[in-house]
Amino acid sequence: MLARPRQPARFINDTKQQKHMHGPVAPDTQSDDTLFETLIATAVDGIMVIDERGTVQVYNKACERLFQYSAAEVVGQNVNMLMPAPYRAEHDGYLDRYRTSGEARIIGIGREARGQRKNGTEFPLYLSVGQGMLDGKRIFVGIVHDLTQIKAETAAREEQRGVMASIIEASNDAIISKTLDGTVTSWNAAATRIFGYTAQEIIGKPIAILFPPDLVDEEATILAKLANGESIQHYETVRRRKDGSHIDISLTVSPLLDNSGKVVGASKTARDITERKTAEARLQMLQNELTHVARLSEMGQFSAALAHELNQPLTAVLNYVNVAKRLLVSPNADSPAKTYETIAKAGQQAQRAAQIIRRMRDFVEKRDSKRTIEDVNKIAADAIALGLVGAKIANIKMHTIFASHAPAVLVDKVQIQQLLVNLLRNAAEAMAESPKRELTLSTNTIDDTAVEISVADTGPGISDEVAKRLFEPFVTTKAGGMGIGLAISQSIVEAHGGQLRMTPNRGGGTIFHFRLPAAPGME
Ligand code: ADP
Repeated sequence: MLARPRQPARFINDTKQQKHMHGPVAPDTQSDDTLFETLIATAVDGIMVIDERGTVQVYNKACERLFQYSAAEVVGQNVNMLMPAPYRAEHDGYLDRYRTSGEARIIGIGREARGQRKNGTEFPLYLSVGQGMLDGKRIFVGIVHDLTQIKAETAAREEQRGVMASIIEASNDAIISKTLDGTVTSWNAAATRIFGYTAQEIIGKPIAILFPPDLVDEEATILAKLANGESIQHYETVRRRKDGSHIDISLTVSPLLDNSGKVVGASKTARDITERKTAEARLQMLQNELTHVARLSEMGQFSAALAHELNQPLTAVLNYVNVAKRLLVSPNADSPAKTYETIAKAGQQAQRAAQIIRRMRDFVEKRDSKRTIEDVNKIAADAIALGLVGAKIANIKMHTIFASHAPAVLVDKVQIQQLLVNLLRNAAEAMAESPKRELTLSTNTIDDTAVEISVADTGPGISDEVAKRLFEPFVTTKAGGMGIGLAISQSIVEAHGGQLRMTPNRGGGTIFHFRLPAAPGME
């Protein structure tokens, strides 16, 4: 319903004047009059008419909703009651000035303003004002569009944009956007840190300046993927800094879409992975060293020990051969049988020597990982033979507690030996200054799916501080230590589906233990 009062006296004194007022819009007929009223009443925006002095003549339903005043409260009053300070006080002045000088601030233009509700609260609005003449008197028609929702949405968007901007600025990764022809359009602080260009220097320039000459083709591949709407995840590549140096990065590129879903550009996140690459390369190098004979750094002692191990069977061979020689020339009747027996024994000893050499060769050979079915106790025994070679084993008492019916395990034998050698050597080194030096290597059947191996020492134990980072690479307390032994050991155990753990030994010292998988179907 149109909020025009039924009593003309309270609204517009002269009904004729009223008809004139909307004459050009609605012809002077009863039904058009109703149509006009319906239009105004149902309009979503507030519609009001004021006279030259600012007195409200028309005030529709939408205005009632917006300002919370009823038409009865507003019609006939100064329109400034709907305005907050300072407009309320200034409005009469505007009307006066317009009357006398014709200087318009809003008429025919429209602008954002503020309204005041009956309860005193304010709201943003867009006011467009037109003017007309009615019986020789000027009137103003105002249309009020509520901006509360739009303003709230804009503010929320602005806030979100602000939050996004600060996240982007605070990111450790370079966040860059570019158009589809490769022109840089945004550049965050991390991008400056990583690539050396400031935003000012690079925005508007082609992204290609970040490409090393031999990788310029990469951009075409990336752009082709983007144009298809595909994104590129964690692509490791190389870029060039402002100073010309190269940098390893991990790149994620996603298409930027416009409202219609068309690809108009790309956003890139680039992570500096130089440090990780260097660490990886170093670890790889050290791992190669470790898995090769260089791990047994004291080559001299190693060969001395090898000689020592071989000495026993070779001496035995020599002795048996001498005995056999003597027996061959002996006139005794049983000498052929004895000779045969002696030669057989010499053969066994030669076998033993060959076995020792094979074991050593297996250990030092570089080779790919390979799983075989093995006897866990044999691996442990071999590891002791290898591990304590060249180690400072003075006065170390070695105990072995081997499970009697351990299931066979499915493992990379050499890796497990290397890991045990490492644990045994660490234990031996840890006990160098200890009054009690006992090293215990045990194997334990957990069930028919797993066997546990543990290496226990009576050394000084491990401080909480070192323990926290024990399995991280480059953690060492030794002057010449590399700190990668346990990191590699852990990765070997993990590759076998287990976890290398450290627990304090009762009565002092340390125990390292881990499980190995039993070979399927073996018990
Ligand atoms: P490294 O032997 O080169 O230091 P590791 O990764 O093998 O590298 O060992 C890391 C550190 O863990 C050692 O420096 C030592 O402080 C500690 N550690 C390892 N094993 C033992 C042990 N059995 N007793 C005491 N400390 C140990």
